[in-house]
Amino acid sequence: MTAAENPTPQGLAAAGPAATAGPEALPDLVVFRNVTKVFGHGAGARVAVQDVSFVVPDLPERGELVTIVGPSGCGKSTLLRLIAGLEPHFPPTSGQVLVFGRPVQGPDASRGMVDQKYSLLPHLTVLDNIAFGLKLRGVGRHERKARALEWMHKVGLEGSERKYPSELSGGMQQRVAIAATLILGPRILLMDEPFGALDPKIRLRMQELLIQLWKEQQGTVFLVTHSVEEALYLGDQVLRMIDAPGRLVETLQVPRPDDPPETLRREAWFAASVQELRRRLEEGAPAAGDLPQRRAQRPSQGSS
Ligand code: ADP
Ligand code: MG
Repeated sequence: MTAAENPTPQGLAAAGPAATAGPEALPDLVVFRNVTKVFGHGAGARVAVQDVSFVVPDLPERGELVTIVGPSGCGKSTLLRLIAGLEPHFPPTSGQVLVFGRPVQGPDASRGMVDQKYSLLPHLTVLDNIAFGLKLRGVGRHERKARALEWMHKVGLEGSERKYPSELSGGMQQRVAIAATLILGPRILLMDEPFGALDPKIRLRMQELLIQLWKEQQGTVFLVTHSVEEALYLGDQVLRMIDAPGRLVETLQVPRPDDPPETLRREAWFAASVQELRRRLEEGAPAAGDLPQRRAQRPSQGSS
């Protein structure tokens, strides 16, 4: 069903029992059921998100990349922190947030968060930052070190083991933060504008690295971004929000070909999608249906 045909404003499957319900069905990965979060009381009350419902199914051995876009203050960070179970955004004022079919109770190892500030520990070396979560889990020294070194390699930070975060560029700090989170193998990775502070070239490299690591880990990623191109390049689906109060307007499905971003950007359907999504964001438009579709590379044989 397309977003346009959907009677609910959320586009994606309406929140409810798992769409694939059956004896063998996996619970959905993340479900929001009419979630509202209000900060403060009385005259000072501020609605951060209102009546948000969506379902992200569990796709084992595949995972999904869900990107979230919308104007500042529309509740993007609130949405991520509700999934993470982080106060003060969690718990919701009303409605339900389910992860793996169970109401979220607070943070746990199934969900890892990488935010804008990178949250590195300044007094620890790069290697110890990456190994820190393993230490908290009681993993022994040797194994910790070996696994942290492996992750330093994966994110291209070999040689920086003994440096401290303050000695690294923004892009390198971001890679440390990603490694420190992914080393714990979360099924759900939450990223709040993770590449916002990076220059465009490093940003492209980080996007490709994220896709590569994501393919290896087969988890599901929720990524908040201000970049329309990034949302469309990275997302299998894009959640578009509007503000005052924060609401989810539509969920857009995006084909994600295996092409690098520079190639994709030159394709007409991609450029048209970027333009259309940007227009909808600027206008705060209501649900407006599918984005321009990618045409098959070759006409399919035997189609009538
Ligand atoms: P976004 O990430 O889209 O910019 P946020 O989720 O940070 O939006 O915020 C949504 C709304 O909730 C904003 O109006 C913001 O001021 C309010 N808000 C967010 N966090 C808090 C908080 N800790 N206390 C009070 N209000 C908050
Ligand atoms: Mg935010």
